[in-house]
Amino acid sequence: MKLHRLKQAAAAVTALLLISSATAQEKFQGDKVDLDALAAIKTEAYDHSQVMENLFWLADAYGPRVNNSKNHRLAAEWAMKQMKEWGLKNVHLEPWHFGYGWQIKHFYAAMESPVYASFTGFPLAWTPGTNGPITVEPIFVPIHDEADFAKYHGKLKGKAIMMFDPAPLGLHTRVDATPSPTDEEILARGGARGGGAPAGAPGAPGAAPAAGGRGGRAGGAAAAPGQERDASGRGRPGEGNWEFTPTSLALANAKNGELRNKLNTFLRDEGVTISITPGYNGDGGTIFGTYGGSENPSDPVPPPIVAIGAEQYNRLVRLTQHGLKPKVTFDVQVDYQKADQNAFNVIGEIPGTTKPEEVVMVGGHFDSWQGGTGATDDGTGSAVALEAVRILATLKKPMARTVRVALWGGEEEGVYGSTAYVQQHFAVRTTMVKTPEYDKLDVYFNDDGGAGRFRGVSAGGSPQMAAIFKSWIEPIKDQHIVSVSGGDTFRPTANPGGTDSTAFSWIGLNGIGFQQDGLEYGTRTHHSNADVYDRVPKADVTQGSFVEAWFAYNAATRADMLPRIPTPAADPNAKSHE
Ligand SMILES: [Zn+2]
Repeated sequence: MKLHRLKQAAAAVTALLLISSATAQEKFQGDKVDLDALAAIKTEAYDHSQVMENLFWLADAYGPRVNNSKNHRLAAEWAMKQMKEWGLKNVHLEPWHFGYGWQIKHFYAAMESPVYASFTGFPLAWTPGTNGPITVEPIFVPIHDEADFAKYHGKLKGKAIMMFDPAPLGLHTRVDATPSPTDEEILARGGARGGGAPAGAPGAPGAAPAAGGRGGRAGGAAAAPGQERDASGRGRPGEGNWEFTPTSLALANAKNGELRNKLNTFLRDEGVTISITPGYNGDGGTIFGTYGGSENPSDPVPPPIVAIGAEQYNRLVRLTQHGLKPKVTFDVQVDYQKADQNAFNVIGEIPGTTKPEEVVMVGGHFDSWQGGTGATDDGTGSAVALEAVRILATLKKPMARTVRVALWGGEEEGVYGSTAYVQQHFAVRTTMVKTPEYDKLDVYFNDDGGAGRFRGVSAGGSPQMAAIFKSWIEPIKDQHIVSVSGGDTFRPTANPGGTDSTAFSWIGLNGIGFQQDGLEYGTRTHHSNADVYDRVPKADVTQGSFVEAWFAYNAATRADMLPRIPTPAADPNAKSHE
């Protein structure tokens, strides 16, 4: 069939699909919303906002919140105290098995000779300290894959090693913060993007799922538009793990920890003193870094592994290559929390009036990585969820259904906390035997796309849901949330991954994510030492809190529960993290 005929046919099919989904959505009625309630929610959200105060405590006072660490527990104590002060009920921690907690206690790094230079940096998560200050003479031993282990066998004892190629750095030819698209631009391209991991990162909508389903730990997916690698080959800061140089791709492919364990066993058995890295991305003082070891007591413990600034790392490599034998002092102290290997989710509720057994949930993940204070990942999602329930609790408007806030643990390691929760409360995926709570869970609204304001919402493949959400955003379009996407094609969730809403959709429950403005999430803050309070625009999270409170209110007061996504079949091979 001639090409243009083919194109005509394809265009006709698309038009038909669009018409059918449009008519399908038209077929469904939206809701008649309560504009008085809307006005009250808006006033409380904008005139009496406490969202930045929430963020202050989570980030400045208790950040970072590496899962199951002391900080994480202190932050949870604060959140529970605050929830109770707002009048929430049934405020408690829900434990699930995890492993060791870990956090930084002290970090010092400086080059002593040939000249003095102080270094910025931090240790990678779940790696040990240096047992006091050590002064070392680093050697450059590029390790690109397992085959290189043999090359260095017996040569690394007592050595400080630099096993990564120098980081290829380029000029910053583009702005960090993606300019926020206009409402028209969003609608023109068929919906907002974002929500969950930044574009290009695993777990982001449309990105390839991360092998091993590790939330925050996976390697990169194809770069999204505007996120291509610049001339230096180095991805824009924030993309992917351990894959900033093509040659370490083999290492990067160790997404399920298997090669990480082999590498750590090798480094430990060879007697390496410390491994120095440039992080997995970043420059100009921003360092992206996450884990180096594991929370699992049975996994090998590597020697200390630190991430320093890329420019500092490259300088050390050049000094070494010129035979100038630089000397560097490191003093790394860390805190392993081994006493209680149960991590937790933080839960609180506004009990429903007439249908208290039916539940609407809002949330985000409470844990973070260690470089910054976990402000945008996911301090904002937690602060917004807390603010949404504060607004609703303050207004004391009767809501038929219970509104429950959940601050998940273990998202960065693999969406563990929410996965444990849905299986403890609703159904285990291996059997899909439903608990009595299963049919009473109406919807879970998730925020884990950085600090950006909400521009759209996904309808989880349901045209009816799309029509309902459209009627909810219609009266608030002036706040620039304009798009409802994914109302036509239902995509089942094979595995939880990328963010917590997937744990709900994985077992056939409504796990709904908001699409947010990208800001500088993928380029500056996602898993970096720049993930701090000052990178959060107040106006954006204030808007997010307003929208989330409004959505929760509508779901908790409408006559019927929201339409359900199809229930998946039992999957005997599904992993169950309980
Ligand atoms: Zn996150």
